[in-house]
Order: sequence, then structure tokens, then C-alpha cells
Amino acid sequence: MHDYLIVGSGLYGAVCARLLTDAGHLVRVVERRSHIGGNVYTEEQEGIVVHSYGAHIFHCSNQEIWDFVNRFASFRPFVNRPVSISGGKLYSLPFNMFTFNQLWGVTSPDEARAIIEKERLVLDREPGNLEEQALSMVGKTIYDLLIRGYTKKQWQKDPKELPPWIIRRLPLRFTYDNNYFNDTYQGIPDGGYTKLIRGLLDGIQVETSVDFLTNRSELQAKARRVIYTGALDEFFGYDLGVLEYRGLRFEHDWFQSENVLGNAVINYGDEEVPYTRRIEHRHFSPTQSPVSIVSREYPANWRPGDIPFYPVNSPENEGLHRKYCERIAEYENYYIGGRLADYRYYDMHQVVGAAMKFVRSLAVR
Ligand code: FAD
Ligand code: UDP
Repeated sequence: MHDYLIVGSGLYGAVCARLLTDAGHLVRVVERRSHIGGNVYTEEQEGIVVHSYGAHIFHCSNQEIWDFVNRFASFRPFVNRPVSISGGKLYSLPFNMFTFNQLWGVTSPDEARAIIEKERLVLDREPGNLEEQALSMVGKTIYDLLIRGYTKKQWQKDPKELPPWIIRRLPLRFTYDNNYFNDTYQGIPDGGYTKLIRGLLDGIQVETSVDFLTNRSELQAKARRVIYTGALDEFFGYDLGVLEYRGLRFEHDWFQSENVLGNAVINYGDEEVPYTRRIEHRHFSPTQSPVSIVSREYPANWRPGDIPFYPVNSPENEGLHRKYCERIAEYENYYIGGRLADYRYYDMHQVVGAAMKFVRSLAVR
């Protein structure tokens, strides 16, 4: 009999497993994929650390979270400086003085502010959707070139139908600073995220290729408590309805070259280009490999059975998710967490923080 059965070996499950084990509990982890780590999984190929499910850069400003993850892997400093190609030209991201210079030839913050101020949408209320938020933040030129096409293909929705906070993830700066994140700490585990997850799960019973939902009664009978990190609609057989997710498809190309893109991440702003990003893995972690692996990230419509990559946080989906939460709350000794079960667009540090908070809350129950 285990004290905790953790469903899912992604970052949330792995952090819970570590903290509960360290607190003296007997923990078992089951994972339906053939590998640990969920979406942060990395795999070494030809001496290159490949981010199998898209570029992952750890960033945070919380000392406790940063110290915690550094106990399990040494993080190599990495600053994400993506560029975007749109209309055949290249622009610096996030929106900063380099971008404004490329767009308008301006060299001073005052000149850039003046142009954006002239172009910007002025509202006498809070922006109600992503388009309004983008237009009121950066104006029409940047919206048309760098946001509209990318967003439409990523979400397969008109930006007017998306929540404003999605675009607020991207900083707007009037300095020559093209760091994609505002956080104090930023890095990538030396050897990849799988090494971090392995460190977190060290000494813990982990079984891969085991789907909890198809072996539920047998598995839950052998544990006092269950922590479920999968999707809630799936848990209930979608009986109240299907939550909306975005899917992704990755295509990997191999090159006999040491530098194909010239950067770790290139975004594609044109709607006609079918992928949103290309990433060249060797730029994330140094390697002596003579080859290079470049991945294309294609947005995909998600259907039950596919990997759910992004929650689509519309009011309807949030309402449905709340109903599923109410139902699982009635299950004794069941807990939920992570990007899927919480149906939240969490970054990795938020997942780690949420898992720490959850385990702490158990101690006071
Ligand atoms: P998951 O990784 O989804 O783990 C859940 C696990 O549960 C999975 O392994 C799944 O197989 C398993 N599972 C589900 N159901 C069952 C079942 N029935 N039985 C057994 N196992 C089950 N964050 C950043 O901070 N920086 C980045 O640069 C960044 N880049 C990203 C890029 C992309 C393309 C994506 C999609 C996300 C990115 N993220 C990034 C977010 C990051 O991936 C997530 O925050 C993190 O992986 C979530 O961890 P999790 O454990 O909550 O979920
Ligand atoms: N976005 C955009 N153009 C870009 C990059 C991002 O319009 O070049 C928008 C898009 O709507 C995206 C959101 O900003 O979904 C958040 O971008 P982020 O890079 O944080 O997305 P993630 O890495 O989580 O996919």
C-alpha cells in the first residue's frame, strides 16, 4: 500500500513525488507515455539535447523555486532572444528598441513612444480581448506584422475571441533589451530536462506506459491517496462535455551543419507559413556535434486522445472546468494539479510553485 499514487510524471507530478518522499511518504508514480517528464522531456540525439515537445526555457524570479530546481540539476544560463520573420523581414522580439528601429528606423525611446502613441488604440475601459489588448499596447503595425498571423494560426481563432492576458505574456520595452522574459533567473538544465526529472524522481517507484484511467480501480486500491495531473474531462469520460485544448505537431530535420538558423528560436508571423516556430536545439545547450537538429512546431486541432498542449481558457471552457472540479472535489482522498488538471496556462516555475504550495497544504490538513 502506497501513501500516494501520482498520476503523471510531468514536472508537477515529479515535484510532488520528491517533496512527499522527502517528507517520509511512500510514493508511486504512473505515467502513460513511454517516458518520464511530460512535455518538458528532452532526449539526447547525436550529442544534441533535443526538446522533444518544443523549446523549454526555465525562468523565474522566486528564489525558493530557483534554489529548489537547482538541487536536482545544474542550470546553464540561457537568455531567450527569439526573432520573428514576417513579410520576408526579420524583427527582434519581444517588442523592444531593436524592433522599433527595424520597423521605423527610430533610435530613441521618445521617437518610438511617439509612433506607438499615435498608432495605439485608446480605450476608456480595459481591453476585452487579445486584439484590443495588442492594439492598445503596441498599435497596428506591430499587431499586423508580428501578432495577428501568429496568433490566428497558433489558436485557430480570431484574436478577438481570445483573452487579453495571452499577449501580456510578451514584454514591451523601450530599451535595447531583447530578453524574452523579465525574470531574475533564466536557464536550461545541463544535460536537459529529463535529467532534472530523473533527479526529482530518484529512488521513487515510477512506471511508464501505464495509463491510470484504464487500470483505475486496481491502481487506486493500492494507494491511500491519489494525485491526478491529467485532464479532468478525460477523467470523467467527457460526460459533461469536452474541454478545448490546442494540439501541436513537431517535425524534426537533420542537417550536416553546425548552424542552420543562427538562433535557438525563430517565430513566423505570417499566417501563410504553416508553422509558428522553428528551433535549433544545439543553440540551447553547447555541443560538439557535427550535425544540427531543427524542429518545426505546427499548431494542430486537438481531439480526445491527442496530447493536450494548451488549455483554451474561454469563459465556456472555464465554466465546464469548474463543473469537473466540483465533481472531483467529492472524491475522497483525490487531489488534482498541474497544467492539465488545473486547466491553466502555467509555465514551468508556476507548476513547481503550485506543487510546493500543494504539498505544504497537505501538512496542515
Ligand atoms: P504535463 O507535462 O502535461 O504532465 C502531465 C503528465 O501526466 C504527462 O506526462 C501525461 O502523459 C501524464 N498523464 C496524463 N493522463 C494520464 C493517465 N491517465 N495516466 C498516466 N499518466 C497520465 N514553460 C516554461 O516555463 N518555459 C518555456 O519555455 C515553456 N515552453 C513551452 C513550450 C511548449 C510548446 C509548451 C506546450 C509548453 C511550454 N511550457 C514552458 C510549459 C510547460 O511545458 C508546462 O508548464 C509543464 O510541462 C507542465 O507540467 P505538468 O506536469 O503540469 O503537465
Ligand atoms: N505571440 C505573437 N507573436 C509571437 C509570439 C507570441 O503574437 O511572435 C502571441 C501568441 O498569441 C502567443 C502568445 O503571444 O500565443 C504567447 O506567446 P508565448 O511565446 O508566451 O507562447 P508559448 O511559448 O507559451 O507558446
